Amino acid sequence: MNTIHIIGGGLAGSEAAWRAAENGARVVLHEMRPVRGTDAHQTDGLAELVCSNSFRSDDAENNAVGLLHEEMRRAGSLILRSADAHRLPAGGALAVDRHGFSAAVTRALEDHPNISIERGEVAGLPPEDWTNVVVATGPLTSDALAQSIRTLTQDDGLAFFDAIAPIAHKESINFDICWMQSRYDKGEPGEEGAYVNCPFDEAGYRAFVAAVVAAEKVAAPEAAHSGPPPTSATSYPATARRGAATVGPPPGHIVTTPPNTRTKPPNQSHQTSGLMVNRYTASSVPCTEPAYTM
Ligand SMILES: Cc1cc2nc3c(=O)[nH]c(=O)nc-3n(C[C@H](O)[C@H](O)[C@H](O)COP(=O)(O)OP(=O)(O)OC[C@H]3O[C@@H](n4cnc5c(N)ncnc54)[C@H](O)[C@@H]3O)c2cc1C
Repeated sequence: MNTIHIIGGGLAGSEAAWRAAENGARVVLHEMRPVRGTDAHQTDGLAELVCSNSFRSDDAENNAVGLLHEEMRRAGSLILRSADAHRLPAGGALAVDRHGFSAAVTRALEDHPNISIERGEVAGLPPEDWTNVVVATGPLTSDALAQSIRTLTQDDGLAFFDAIAPIAHKESINFDICWMQSRYDKGEPGEEGAYVNCPFDEAGYRAFVAAVVAAEKVAAPEAAHSGPPPTSATSYPATARRGAATVGPPPGHIVTTPPNTRTKPPNQSHQTSGLMVNRYTASSVPCTEPAYTM
């Protein structure tokens, strides 16, 4: 079989390279970092996670994402194997140590006899003599390649739009009211709980939404909103600007622990909603808030 060229050593390109190589193909994986960076990646590691280090639910029996994880495991996924080896406590979610995870993927690909890794930008459409090509350059495809794809497809609608969850400083949380406990008490035995449970009464909730709307914002780099403005915005702060009733508690963030199993009951008697914030998965990367909203 002719060599397969894979452009982009992110999550998709790394998995594709691994699978093709495991099936006996010769693979050249082209990754532009560190020769050329992106506005969000911070290392030269393959499969670097940008922003959240959570792969969401790992519950194969009750959740579609968890089921997909399980299918990938059974198919021999390098991404899942590396994630499992570097997982962090996160209740029923699969969250990873981003550096250990990326290092494991990088090592596995570097050590594979069928894979060679070329560091450098593919600055346009692939050469004619690359007969098998996978383009896996993700949302931050370099300008030169993106422009070539635009020209080829005569499509000016290529766009990337990012949203971010607000980050709350731990010192600002009142632990006389809030408590640590994982959703449904899932997690490792003896674990204190990976989530900060923040119950609200209505007044407190409205104050929280107002504080999010008024909070200091991270300036969005150009890469976070390339292309035309989206028709709807999905970020929590953006939605919050439309009013407390619009945001509600975000799906999956509602306090779901039955009251009689709380390890630390909240002081409020009229809890209307709440947030659960994972203490391991908050991003250390300055992700962005969309520029095109309200
Ligand atoms: C700021 C930001 C925040 C995000 N937050 C989240 C999040 O919280 N949760 C989530 O699930 N997803 C998030 N995403 C989306 C995230 O990028 C994808 O989930 C995931 O990384 C996509 O994998 P990928 O392999 O397609 O792209 P990437 O992981 O981005 O990999 C693409 C790779 O291609 C390389 N590349 C680009 N152009 C070229 C070129 N011309 N030649 C050679 N190499 C090239 C890049 O350097 C990169 O390593 C975020 C993305 C961004 C940009």
